[in-house]
This record gives sequence, structure tokens and C-alpha cells, in this order.
Amino acid sequence: MQIQLKRKACSFAHLAAALVFFLLAVKAEARDWQIYKISNRDYVSCENVAKFYSFQRFAKEGSDRIFAVPELMMRWKTGSQSIYVNNIKFNLSFPVVGSGDKALISTVDLAKLVDPVVRPSYIKKPIRFDTVVIDAGHGAHDTGAKGKLGLEKNYALDMALRLEQSLKQRGFKTLLTRRTDVFLTLSQRVDIANRQKNAIFISLHFNSSGSQTANGIETYALAPQGTRSTNGGSNPWNSPLSGNVRDAENIALATSVHAHVMNDLRAVDRGIKRARFNVLRGINKPAILFEGGFVTNPTEGRQINDPGHRQRLADSIANAVVKFRTAVSGR
Ligand SMILES: [Zn+2]
Repeated sequence: MQIQLKRKACSFAHLAAALVFFLLAVKAEARDWQIYKISNRDYVSCENVAKFYSFQRFAKEGSDRIFAVPELMMRWKTGSQSIYVNNIKFNLSFPVVGSGDKALISTVDLAKLVDPVVRPSYIKKPIRFDTVVIDAGHGAHDTGAKGKLGLEKNYALDMALRLEQSLKQRGFKTLLTRRTDVFLTLSQRVDIANRQKNAIFISLHFNSSGSQTANGIETYALAPQGTRSTNGGSNPWNSPLSGNVRDAENIALATSVHAHVMNDLRAVDRGIKRARFNVLRGINKPAILFEGGFVTNPTEGRQINDPGHRQRLADSIANAVVKFRTAVSGR
């Protein structure tokens, strides 16, 4: 297990109640974990998690397990590959396993999701950043998703420029991978990000589907080593990728952005997901890919076409970057 348990317990820091981030005071040691082996994979029990993180309330309601302190509620369901933290949906790498009256979560999900989400201040050696590399997806002949009212490449660029202004107002430096309607390969985008010091990376996209009913916002972080991508049916990927050095920060950044946007925009929540997109796998900085709704959905297509809506998205993401920095560094 890669959970860092030796750092001294942090004090409670109250962030906005609507947000997921909450810094739990934990004094437990690694020996406090009892490991269950299922199909050669390590798991821990719900009781163990409740005790380790000192949740004041822990309840079993049928197949649900509820963990709560005043500012945070986490809900698991046996058999499900999603958990909810403050009503934000997270996709697990492996489903919650029911065994008798126990619900078991994989140690991969404990270390790579639950821990950095419920106590980001414990992330080891977090990046100190003052720059945000903003990547507007697609460009030129690569139009991205096509909606009735507009193209993904144009919406993404417009939002990137808005996010740049919003971040500058909050004291950050910014670098855009493109400022005009040009084509960049995915590796060019990665190179731009990796040349920057003290930076994080946010790739902006909008979604499409053959079905007009598909809707909602989703945020991607790189899938950890040894797990499947949330979207793919492929076998678990066992080689480490450059981006995996930032696993904890990746999910913490995804959490902050997704929770802020869900809270501010009241959008349909498709969850925080895992993938091995080319723009995420090679980046040695905390990195996420944000999908801000479906241009192919009539309602969302109209919203995305509204500059005011794109401004609200950009401002929400900028506030999330501020909160991420505070959450991981205590600044
Ligand atoms: Zn795209």
C-alpha cells in the first residue's frame, strides 16, 4: 500500500461545505489495516475505513455503507463501481465487494482515490505551482464534436481564453497550448506542459454522442497502474506511465474541478473517471481532462453555445484551481 501514514495529523480545515475536500485528522498507523485477498487483489473493509479515518457516523443500510462527519459524507454500495463523496460521483477502478455484512474496497481505490480525496493535505511532496497550462482540445481540421450550433474546437478555445483571464485575476500565470484555430498533435501538447516548471495542466473538451439524450459533465484523471480505464474494456494496464507519478494530485485536482462545477452549474454528474488519454499519460505534472457537456444534446448544446455559460464554467474551474492549491499545500 502506498498510503502515507507517518505524517503528523493535520488540523481540521474547513473548506466550503458543498465541496468534497475535507481534511480529516488521522493518527492511525499502517498496522491498523487488515488486508483481505480476493482473486489475488488486496481489499480493506468498510469498518476498517470508518475507524482509520475516524468517521463519526458509520451506518449499514442494505447494500449501502455510509460514512459521515459533519462536513463530509461518503457512500458505497456493494457490487457498484461508483462511490459518492458529498454526492459527487467517483468511478472506482474495481467494484465494492460484498462479503457477509462487510463491504470491501480495493487498496488501489483506497490509496489512489479515497485517501487523496478525503485528506489531500497528506499527499506527499505536492507540486508548488504558480502556472496553469490550459489546453483547448482539437483545432483546425480536427473539429472535435459537432453540434447543431457549433464545433467543440471553437467552444474549447473560447473557454480556454476565458479560463486564462479568470486564472490571471486569481494571481496565476497561464500558458495556452493554442490561442488560435491551429492543429497540435497530442504529444506537442504534452511537450508544452512538460517544459513548464511549477505548473498543472487542464485540457478542455466538450462531448458528443450518437444519442441526443446523452448529457452531463465528466472529469478524467489518468488511470492508476494495474487498473482498467473507466471507459475501456481492455485488460488492466500494468506498466507505469509518466503521469502516474502524480496519481494522488491528479485525482485531487479532478475532484476539486468536478465538485466546483457540479456545485456551481448544477449539471448532470457523469462522474470523475479514469482513462489513459494520450494527453494525460505523458504529463509529469498534475493533469486532468474536462468534458464540459454534450454539444449533441439539444439542451446542453444551447447552454454550451451561450458565452455566459462558458464564462461560468471557466470561473468555476478557476476557483477549483485555487481550492486545489489550498487543499494540497495548505496555502
Ligand atoms: Zn474533445
